[in-house]
Amino acid sequence: MHSQRLSPWLEAPQEECGVFGVYSPEEEVARTTYFGLFALQHRGQESAGIAVADGHRIVLHKAMGLVTQVFDEEVLKALGDGTMAIGHTRYSTCGSSVEQNAQPICYASAYGDIAVAHNGNLVNTQELGDRLRADGVELDATNDSALIARMLARCNKERIEDALAEVLPQLQGAYSLVVMTPRQMAAVRDPYGIRPLSIGHLGDGRYVFASENCAISVVGGHFHREIEPGEAVIVDRDGLREIQVLPTAKRATCVFEFIYFARPDTQIYSRTIYDARRRMGHQLAREHPTPGAHIVIPIPDSAVPAALGYAEASRIPFGEGLVKNRYIQRTFIEPVQRMRDLGARMKYSPLREALAGHKVVMVDDSIVRGTTTGKLVRMLREAGATEVHVRITSPPVRFPCYYGIDMADQKELIAARKSIEQIREDIGATSLGYLSLQGVMRAIGLPKKLFCRACFDGEYPIHIPPHVRVTKMMLEDPRKDDEVTD
Ligand code: SF4
Repeated sequence: MHSQRLSPWLEAPQEECGVFGVYSPEEEVARTTYFGLFALQHRGQESAGIAVADGHRIVLHKAMGLVTQVFDEEVLKALGDGTMAIGHTRYSTCGSSVEQNAQPICYASAYGDIAVAHNGNLVNTQELGDRLRADGVELDATNDSALIARMLARCNKERIEDALAEVLPQLQGAYSLVVMTPRQMAAVRDPYGIRPLSIGHLGDGRYVFASENCAISVVGGHFHREIEPGEAVIVDRDGLREIQVLPTAKRATCVFEFIYFARPDTQIYSRTIYDARRRMGHQLAREHPTPGAHIVIPIPDSAVPAALGYAEASRIPFGEGLVKNRYIQRTFIEPVQRMRDLGARMKYSPLREALAGHKVVMVDDSIVRGTTTGKLVRMLREAGATEVHVRITSPPVRFPCYYGIDMADQKELIAARKSIEQIREDIGATSLGYLSLQGVMRAIGLPKKLFCRACFDGEYPIHIPPHVRVTKMMLEDPRKDDEVTD
């Protein structure tokens, strides 16, 4: 089944994927995984899948749609009484949005099936595919995750750690994986730790893995720690083993997880995302104050903590100026053109009482193409706002992401083509201020060397091969000396 992108309404950076795994001989692992995926739904809404292993075989169900659309009681029961399960929620960042690219992906090996769920994006997919084809392998899926699964299955190793030791050194790029054979499970993170991945426990000998630790708490687990870059944590009947498969490279966790992607109740590097976003708001108020403004409003939901922080630091009252329809983005029904043209209006409605006659500070987390921001500013003005000061909790996005976030090609990024003053004019704002990269780091409370921030500064921690770069990088280095317009 083909589907359109799930976000015909807006242009926000699209989340990538969520992975989940549970090893627990004493409970209904399919049901636990269902609720784990439910907590990770924000990371991908195009497809969902669960694979269950019972010591002998793997049973898999996956389909296009939200977790609640893909699974019901009957489907969960049909997955059987296994001892462990892995699951995935997907937003396609590599390969088109079709059912055959849904995950987990499962292939047969000499020792039984092997199932893989992947978050991230490889940068050497083409080379790996060419290598497999040269070996006579027919590839039946177009994404990098399928290649990883195929390579692991082709090793024909009995122990998961031996297959990982053979395959991981060949992968370049971002990957947080949960891998399962009928008898073993592994959680693996690339040597840069680009995408998050955590382990928790449910009790003696029972473990849970998740892209974000919020999903560990949701299933009643206790967050233990993040998987280390280059590490594989393996669990089976003999217990848990922690193996450093690849040496940790320069750490480069995606800073956008802090700014936008991760859920506010998640922790990365022992920092709670909510607190970091609130401090980004404090910092933004210091860097770009708005004297004389009457109200600070967030673009709900991700900018709420930052707007609260801005209001606290600036002593301008916080208020809600936009009501969000939380469900509009999550429909598979194609909007008619007339509704499509309404774009942001289908998703946000202005609260006239809060806006009319007021000088408004509008806080958002990022500007990608600029079209939505422009529509929102217009909406606020039409609702009576006399001034709209746009404050963004990230630096200008000037470079594309190759590590698993769908943010558009460089030529579509407004900050790659225009100065900040031109962007302000385009979106119709009274003033525009972006938080500096230094300000982001100060808010998180960690040095920038621990993060990938390539979409802001163009310093890619993992080499991007020229043929990959050319597909997204259309412009010269667009950095300009123009951080402020107000
Ligand atoms: S390029 Fe940007 S979005 Fe992509 S991993 Fe790096 S910081 Fe994250």
